[in-house]
Amino acid sequence: MPELPEVETVVRVIRPLILEKVITDARFSVPRQLLPQTPQQVRRGIQKKRISKVERKGKFILVYLEEGLLLIHLRMTGRLYIKKSTMELGKHERACFTLDDGNSLIFNDPRTLGTISYHKQQDEIAALVKLGWDPLTDQTTVEELRESLRGRTTAIKKLLLDQTIWAGIGNIYASEILWMAGIHPEKQSNLLTKHQLTALIEAVPLVLKHALEKGGSTLRDFMSPDGKRGGYSKEFRVYDREGEPCLRCKKLIKRIVQAQRSTYFCPGCQKKR
Ligand SMILES: [Zn+2]
Repeated sequence: MPELPEVETVVRVIRPLILEKVITDARFSVPRQLLPQTPQQVRRGIQKKRISKVERKGKFILVYLEEGLLLIHLRMTGRLYIKKSTMELGKHERACFTLDDGNSLIFNDPRTLGTISYHKQQDEIAALVKLGWDPLTDQTTVEELRESLRGRTTAIKKLLLDQTIWAGIGNIYASEILWMAGIHPEKQSNLLTKHQLTALIEAVPLVLKHALEKGGSTLRDFMSPDGKRGGYSKEFRVYDREGEPCLRCKKLIKRIVQAQRSTYFCPGCQKKR
C-alpha cells in the first residue's frame, strides 16, 4: 500500500509531466470509485481546465486546476502514470485524463479501492481537514506532541495509522518508525515518556525521508510512474522480518496483529514500559 514516500515519489514524477496541461476529457471505467459523485459530475468539473499545481497532503494527491481540484487516493493498489493517448483503456486502467499534449494521465488500480473526486474548493474536503502534521515539512515539539496525545489511550502503532497526529504514515513505516524510536507498538499513546516523545519526533521524518530517497518500497506492485521499483524494501529494519535478528540487539523480531494489521517489533529494544 502506498504510504507517504511512495505517494510523494508519484507526485514528484508526474508533476512536471502534467503541470500547465489542459485536461481535454476524462473517462472512468469504475464509477463506484467516484462515489458519491458521478463520472458526469467529475468530468464536468475538470474538463477544459488547466492544471496549475500538483501536491501531496498525507497520502492524498491533489491536482489543482485553474478552478477547483481533483483529489486522488491510491489506497491499496492504485498507480498513476502518463502514456500516449489512445481510445482503449488498458488492463486495470480505471480512469484516463486526456491532456492537450497528446498524452493521458492514467489511474491504474487492480483492486479498485482507490478514490477520485472533484471539489470546487479545498476547504470543503472533510478528509483533509483532520490530517495531522506533514512528516516532511512540519516541525513538531515535544510539548505539541504531548498535547496531541492527551487522552489518546490507543496503542501508539494504531494511532500512527489514523492520520490525525502525522499524516502519511501507513502500516509498514509505522513499524519501522517505532523500532527506530525504541517504542513498543502496544504502548498506550498518552503514556509515552518525554524521552520516547523526543525519539518519536526524530524517527518519523528520519524513516520517511530515508524511504523517499530510496524511491519508496517495492511491495507487491508498487512502482513509481517512471517504472522504477522502490529501493527501500531492502532496508526494512523490522517490517516483514519475523524471526530474523534485530539489527541493533540481535533478539529475534516478533510479529503481532493490531487492528487486523501485522506489526513487527524487536522485544529486546522496544520494551513495553
Ligand atoms: Zn533489538
